[in-house]
Amino acid sequence: MSDRGHILVWRYTGADLSGVGGRTCRYCAAATEYIERDVTPDGISTEFYEHHKTTDCMLCGWYSWVSFIHNNLNSGYARLRVFDLNAIQLELSELGTFLRRNFSDVYSLAPNRFEALVGDIFRRSGFDPVLTKQTRDGGIDIFLVNRINNRIDAIVQCKRYHAARKVDIGAVQRLAGVALQWSVRKAYLVTTSSVSRDGLASKQAINREGAIELEFVEANDLLRLLQVYNVNMPSLEHLTDDVRRQIIAANRGR
Ligand SMILES: [Zn+2]
Repeated sequence: MSDRGHILVWRYTGADLSGVGGRTCRYCAAATEYIERDVTPDGISTEFYEHHKTTDCMLCGWYSWVSFIHNNLNSGYARLRVFDLNAIQLELSELGTFLRRNFSDVYSLAPNRFEALVGDIFRRSGFDPVLTKQTRDGGIDIFLVNRINNRIDAIVQCKRYHAARKVDIGAVQRLAGVALQWSVRKAYLVTTSSVSRDGLASKQAINREGAIELEFVEANDLLRLLQVYNVNMPSLEHLTDDVRRQIIAANRGR
């Protein structure tokens, strides 16, 4: 990537026929894959005619397509856009896919962006997360709600700390206190850092008592959890800086 904390993503833009059918990518010159698909069932009137043509670059991810559906023509192609990792227009699936390969960029996320990402990871893992307003709820960032009875199954606290700043015992004990206060059995602490040794000992002591269960998700665990993002987003890292600059320049002003 050209700058830390930024990501390049191909984004659809409408109404352009020129790219479809080409054998090479107009940006990086790699070979493209061309697929033509006719989905009109046999013997059905042309009213239901449906036909698609797509061209995909297997290297940089550029694509272009045309479709005819019920005689309506649609077309478009992908344009490379630069997004700040904190930009709301950058979808969490795109952010998560990027962070799988560039984990150290997690430290440039704003705290509320990190909370949104953590909420999305829980959602993709089968939970029903509800993000809270920071000022309330005793520092709870996310409630995990039970879909069947609408009760709170667990609370989540997020600490977007730098790798060297460990989560201390005070934070662990406060989380346990909040869980008791909300009568919730399970509390997660998710951090981009790790938990201090006395913090880990405190967790073991609290869990032994049995009233609540604390679970820590530290940086290594978080990296593993990012595997919920198996979105097929091409990596642009193998393109030279030169080619990337050309792509961005070509798209500027369109
Ligand atoms: Zn390409």
